Amino acid sequence: MTGSSLERVVLVTGGSRGIGLACARHFLALGDRVAVTYRSTPPPAEDERLMALTCDVTEPDQVEEAFSQVEARWGPVQVLVANAGITRDLLLLRMKEDDWAAVVDTNLSGAWRVAKRAVGPMVRARSGRIVLISSVSGLMGVPGQSNYAAAKAGLVGLGRSLARELASRQVTVNVVAPGVVDTDMLRSLGEARVAEMKALVPLGRVAAPEEVAAAVGFLASTAASYITGAVLAVDGGLGMGL
Ligand code: NDP
Repeated sequence: MTGSSLERVVLVTGGSRGIGLACARHFLALGDRVAVTYRSTPPPAEDERLMALTCDVTEPDQVEEAFSQVEARWGPVQVLVANAGITRDLLLLRMKEDDWAAVVDTNLSGAWRVAKRAVGPMVRARSGRIVLISSVSGLMGVPGQSNYAAAKAGLVGLGRSLARELASRQVTVNVVAPGVVDTDMLRSLGEARVAEMKALVPLGRVAAPEEVAAAVGFLASTAASYITGAVLAVDGGLGMGL
């Protein structure tokens, strides 16, 4: 089921652009059927095996509806990539309750919600792959990102707890921690900030979204069948040793 070219049913949250869309394209290239969720703008309609669904991961009813639609068309989700994320960077003294709550609800609780919905059929099938997209920010801490870093660190605890819960059912749960990746999220920081961040990366450049997708694809493959509870950094060495 979790082989390399077996028409698996994959669901990627926040798959309309950036890392999520790169993940979707990675799985499509392997022959999988891929549902992507988004809030506002759908991904390009580029493949008949790509299903785009509106689903805000902060809304439990929308999560339920998205999974139901995928199951009705293709059957249960076999590979889940919890990727949807936002930032609202502010120093602590300026951060409002809503900035904290929105970031934690999307990045951390959203992943919990979709994992909770996905695992029932995976447990019954005695097979499944879950990959949570965290961030090097959650491992290092970043000034101005107390909300985001806390949520991303939370994904490690979530992922490892689920890895232990689900291991006996052959469902693996792993975390990918990207560093600085060339997407809208990064570009919104402005050229000067991106240049500063790039200068800290041992490999000396930002990542392409496809480089993160390759790691996600690996963790979802049979080659990774004995890997669960891992945190895989895809950060050009930025968080080395953490
Ligand atoms: P983008 O901002 O480019 O894309 C984010 C995606 O998430 C979009 O598809 C967006 O949909 C979706 N999304 C946001 N909020 C919600 C929500 N409430 N419900 C459903 N979908 C939502 O981000 P990236 O591709 O850069 O980031 C993807 C993931 O990788 C995030 O979790 C991010 O934290 C993480 N990451 C990114 C890094 C980077 O340098 N870019 C570094 C480390 C981690 P819509 O278009 O509708 O808003």
